[in-house]
Amino acid sequence: MISLPQTECLACDLLSGARPLPGGRLHQTAHWVVEHTVGPLGVGTLVVKPIRHVLHLADLSKAESAELGPLLHQTAAAVTEVMDPEQVYTCLWSHAGAVPGHIHFVVQPITLEVMTRFSAFGPGLQTALFREGTLPDPDEVTLICARIRTASAWSSSS
Ligand SMILES: [Zn+2]
Repeated sequence: MISLPQTECLACDLLSGARPLPGGRLHQTAHWVVEHTVGPLGVGTLVVKPIRHVLHLADLSKAESAELGPLLHQTAAAVTEVMDPEQVYTCLWSHAGAVPGHIHFVVQPITLEVMTRFSAFGPGLQTALFREGTLPDPDEVTLICARIRTASAWSSSS
């Protein structure tokens, strides 16, 4: 049993280790972390979230927002390097149950294979993935995270 108590926030619990995070932390800046998603968006889909419990993009500090653009770019480049996708969807909903939650950008590499399997793309593809509800296999996540962690994109700082 993990000793840290869980909170009402999944994002904070994954940060603290109160809930298990397959693949572990992939990258970190002063204010942000990059992790693999625990939701049904496919292996290789990453989450970029602030370390601080922030519910609205407009509430980011200047220092937090200054890191965001370069970090989203690096994260998209890392999944592109490893997954060879047709496109990388980068979106922020953070509105489960119509309630604002700890903001997290989903950085989702979309391959021809996943588009073909669901006969969909864009928001329709994300809806189809959530409808199917298949959570990523932890062993596959560990393997892909090992590859993403060594992507050369992380070493480019500008
Ligand atoms: Zn939180």
